[in-house]
Amino acid sequence: MKNIALTMNLSFRPYELRLKHAFNLANSSRTTTPVMLVELTHGGVTGYGEASMPPYLGETQKTAADFLGKLKLSQFHDPFRMEEILGYIDSVAPGNEAAKASVDIALHDLVGKIVGQPWYKLWGLSPENTPNTSFTIGIDSPEVVRQKVEEAGAMKILKVKLGRGNDKKIIEAIRSVTNMPLCVDVNQGWEGRQEALSLIYWLKEKGVLFIEQPMPKEGVEDIAWLTENSPLPIIADEALQRLDDVPKLNGVYSGINIKLMKSTGMHEARKMITVAKALGMKVMIGCMTETSCAVSAAAQLSPLADWADLDGNLLISNDLFDGVKVVDGKITLNELPGIGIRKI
Ligand code: MG
Repeated sequence: MKNIALTMNLSFRPYELRLKHAFNLANSSRTTTPVMLVELTHGGVTGYGEASMPPYLGETQKTAADFLGKLKLSQFHDPFRMEEILGYIDSVAPGNEAAKASVDIALHDLVGKIVGQPWYKLWGLSPENTPNTSFTIGIDSPEVVRQKVEEAGAMKILKVKLGRGNDKKIIEAIRSVTNMPLCVDVNQGWEGRQEALSLIYWLKEKGVLFIEQPMPKEGVEDIAWLTENSPLPIIADEALQRLDDVPKLNGVYSGINIKLMKSTGMHEARKMITVAKALGMKVMIGCMTETSCAVSAAAQLSPLADWADLDGNLLISNDLFDGVKVVDGKITLNELPGIGIRKI
């Protein structure tokens, strides 16, 4: 078969995700998340991708449309040349990580569908090695927190957002209803390393497993000190973007939280995992609020992760895809080719 006449065709449209609960972080609150949905077709096969753009990260539907509109993917005839295609996409403009991720995800979906296999299989990973996913509890009144814990149902680990000054109250509210293991995300909300360390000791006693981004990312020395003295692993989230950040964070944090919307997609995320593991760092795979499209893409990598926070699709009420599932708290991959989704 001559491939020369076949070209890749990219299309995209904006979509707004509705959150089941207002999402409260240390310094923001919202009820919707803007995304861009992407389709990449080649020879009658369509791959799906998504860019999720929570406002605090700086990308918007407009910046994504501008970026995607600049891409000339019709110059490529062979979607298997992923290194070349993704290198080109990255070279078109700096930044735009989520927009880049949307095309990366669609390309992976396309190639996996052409081969007829999901990516975890193409990477040689064992589906039984997927971790449990945490389920996120936003900052709220103790009453609402208790209600959310009950909604978490079969989950095996809860992620608690702290950093607004009522941390002990929130943990005690959760502990009044469940003994489930917890992880904590401070979103840079703590000030003062000594206070942070005391709180971490207290949290360890309460069954917390690790702490994500306890202090502002700029305070590298404070965080390195905290990591050295902390009885719990300290994980970088806001401090981490792409592959070249990973070696810089070695010695400052115990591990990294990789998200496709920061890493420009699955291709670079896999490289980041390889480097982090070579450096002896812990690996967590996270997400934004996303449909099952981007969450299922991230889940393909999850057999390589120590921890996962892939609940973004469970927090929305208007998903457009059926994909990986959480069964008894564990990420459960399927046999669907590509990133493991179908449209609903
Ligand atoms: Mg985080």
